[in-house]
Amino acid sequence: MLSIFVETSCNRYNRDECVDCHVYEPLADIPKSDWHMTPDQARIMAEKISQIGVLNTLAQQEINLTGGEATQNPHIVEIFKIFKTSTPSVCLHTNLEMNSTSSKRWLRLLEILKEGGRADITLYPTAWEKFQKPLLKELVTLQNRMIVNVIFENLTHLQKQIELLMSFFSKEGSNFSHVVQLLKVYDDKVSWLVKNQPDCDEAIYTNHMGDTEAFAHDEKFTLGLSLLPAFKVDPAGNRSMTSLAFPKDPYLIHCPAARGSIDIMTITQTGDMTPCCDVGNLKCQPKFGNLLSDTADKIMAKFEESSKKMLAGIAKNQENLKSGQSGTWVKEGIPPYCG
Ligand code: SF4
Repeated sequence: MLSIFVETSCNRYNRDECVDCHVYEPLADIPKSDWHMTPDQARIMAEKISQIGVLNTLAQQEINLTGGEATQNPHIVEIFKIFKTSTPSVCLHTNLEMNSTSSKRWLRLLEILKEGGRADITLYPTAWEKFQKPLLKELVTLQNRMIVNVIFENLTHLQKQIELLMSFFSKEGSNFSHVVQLLKVYDDKVSWLVKNQPDCDEAIYTNHMGDTEAFAHDEKFTLGLSLLPAFKVDPAGNRSMTSLAFPKDPYLIHCPAARGSIDIMTITQTGDMTPCCDVGNLKCQPKFGNLLSDTADKIMAKFEESSKKMLAGIAKNQENLKSGQSGTWVKEGIPPYCG
């Protein structure tokens, strides 16, 4: 998948609602004049994607347009159409925190759905009743698949969010009964942990959740659930070594790129590429080139050079973890939580 940042601003972090927002600090220095990706920039990116085999393969899986809040970009419909020339699968991530169905942002989203796009959301309990719930009611009648991200600070927080979703889908009729069934499985598992192992570590959580399906499939509607632990982010934008939900152990990222495989490429609005979900929040220094300014050949050379740095840095991180020096930054510029 290619994850492309198309917008800097977000109504939520502009209002300080997301205290530990992972993109606020990396995007904060982008001047207001550059907040919105332009259609011309999107055209340059789409052209380069078609020239670079690895990126083209990832694009065929899916291009995810995100930000900031992608629907805040006034050019988002045109940008969507440009990336649609690269791949049939383009989706857009939104916080769905819009005032009503007459908001400009909602109307942009409708255009994108009409053009064959999909909208995925992150659940925000503080925005749920007033903003997200009424619009999600509309959205599930306009598309037949979506992914919901659930970011949790602890198990009770996760339990509450699953219950919000379960209550919502159980009122949407028989087309969603398989969704409610899957949510019930999650609810049972998380509720058991809340009752019996409220301070469990991540290994116990993972083991208990087992191989619970991530998708409730049906031709009428397919829901994908992505449960993500939240992290504390310091004022300089550094992510902590442990997640908020499981503070006992370092939360390690296994870097596929260092091992020679690229599953995802994040492309920031400035064009910088990193082969994981880092938009600057993880502070990974070796970049895989710049999609706006580098030639295809230069980008390929950067892929090789940076993969080697990642492999070397990760070996040092593993040594540091073994010798009790976790959290130390190595000279290769690889974050200490990448193993
Ligand atoms: S080293 Fe870490 S931050 Fe850098 S690309 Fe790999 S997983 Fe991402």
